[in-house]
Amino acid sequence: MTLDQATIDRLAATPVPPQRLLIGGAWQDGSGAPMPVLSPIDGSRLTTLATASAADVARACADARAAFEDGRWSARPPAERKKVLHRLADLIDRHALELAVLGVRDNGTEISMALKAEPGSAAGTFRYYAEAIDKIHGEIAPTQANVLALVHREPIGVVGAIVPWNFPLMIGAWKIAPALAMGNSVVLKPAETASLTLLRLAELALEAGVPPGVFNVVTGPGAITGEALALSPDVDVLVFTGSGATGRRLLEYSARSNLKRCYLELGGKSPNIVFADAPDIAAAAKAAAMAIFRNAGQVCVAGSRLLVEASIHDAFIDALTRATTQMSVGNPLQLTSQIGAINSLTQLEANLRFVTDATAEGGELVTGGNRILADTGGYYMDPAIVTGVAPHHRLFRNEVFGPVLAVTPFSTEQEALHLANATDYGLAAGVWTGNLGRAHRMLRGIRAGVVHVNTYGGADITVPLSGTRQSGNGADKSLHALDKYTDLKTGWIQL
Ligand code: NAD
Repeated sequence: MTLDQATIDRLAATPVPPQRLLIGGAWQDGSGAPMPVLSPIDGSRLTTLATASAADVARACADARAAFEDGRWSARPPAERKKVLHRLADLIDRHALELAVLGVRDNGTEISMALKAEPGSAAGTFRYYAEAIDKIHGEIAPTQANVLALVHREPIGVVGAIVPWNFPLMIGAWKIAPALAMGNSVVLKPAETASLTLLRLAELALEAGVPPGVFNVVTGPGAITGEALALSPDVDVLVFTGSGATGRRLLEYSARSNLKRCYLELGGKSPNIVFADAPDIAAAAKAAAMAIFRNAGQVCVAGSRLLVEASIHDAFIDALTRATTQMSVGNPLQLTSQIGAINSLTQLEANLRFVTDATAEGGELVTGGNRILADTGGYYMDPAIVTGVAPHHRLFRNEVFGPVLAVTPFSTEQEALHLANATDYGLAAGVWTGNLGRAHRMLRGIRAGVVHVNTYGGADITVPLSGTRQSGNGADKSLHALDKYTDLKTGWIQL
């Protein structure tokens, strides 16, 4: 699809009506006070979100449970479920530009990236799991001859999904599509600052023929709506993407309620490691800038720690700084903007504090690190590069989730590997080298869910995204994700 500025501007001028909850197939007001939705583009009020109280969430979960148990979706022939999810994918495609613009107004991602990463990716995800529906089946185990041992894969029941504000449609689809494909019901809780596209997706799901009660959306603050969902006895499995702090709470809620399974996709502090023998240093410098600064650093797999071999450190930082300062920061609805807005004022302030603290700890700020374009009323920051960041510095160990890059030099491969693994996270990594043996050694040695070699950030629905250590457990994407949404049951039949 080609993007033109006039169409984007026209869509961006469309008023957004006050939003409601989707419970049992009916749109309804929340019991709590509506929350204002501020656009990060200019701080203007876009609309209001409904606040689902604990009682609203309990109703949504009970409706999802009833829908699951009466089989209106879980017992539908696989080929029919497949058709519905394909229809939903087609509807997402048909409304792609509208969804992308709405999402950008809500969360600030630059439009060219949003179109691909949000509706584009969500439609592909629904198609991928629609196709899996009639290809996933049980097994007959090779037991003794007088026994027939069957291994059934069954839907689990009610899936509670809690998602963050970066890439809500993409990440939402990674959970909703496999959950529905396997016959489960879903109660979704989007982030307060990125709910609009998921509410629109729910409208499209009804239009596509997902039966009432099978897909419910409750909006509101994490501490009210999210907590109620995570504590619900009607939720069998909780799938979450967000911060480690919230992930910890979810495990506690599970322990306090019904021991529901919790799959957590959490944060990262991913190392991007450049050796002096990298085949193309200039390309590596440009890629390193993109790895951290696209979507203003609000990417879970962002290459937020640059480890660079000491012998090329200064030349590399020069090239990286040039690439960074050439990236234009501004209104994410403008096609010329390469870096959009920070999602909220709170997040912007936290990012700026990280920069101040990093310099106080001894890091050197090479470029950026300031609030800019404040006169627009929006939340913008120029991308920051901090060199001389040591392993004990806060910026080395903690995720910023913003456009701030920590740079640390190293001298040997062994030291690079040690530094790469010297945080609590294990989400992603990049290695730049022309030495095949070194590439393989690093790939094996780095503790992360994905290691990129001579590139950074490539992805596809066919491969899992799975954090290790404090970056989470379980996998989104690929056929492996289906394990989260199915139970195995053995049938043991004496012949
Ligand atoms: P967050 O943890 O603050 O919020 C995520 C969701 O949890 C939101 O919907 C929020 O309302 C809800 N929530 C907050 N408190 C809650 C509570 N007490 N009970 C239940 N729900 C609660 O995270 P965020 O700031 O929205 O997202 C950024 C984080 O997400 C970063 O750490 C980022 O790395 C991570 N992330 C990870 C991946 C991945 O695939 N691993 C992908 C994207 C983002």
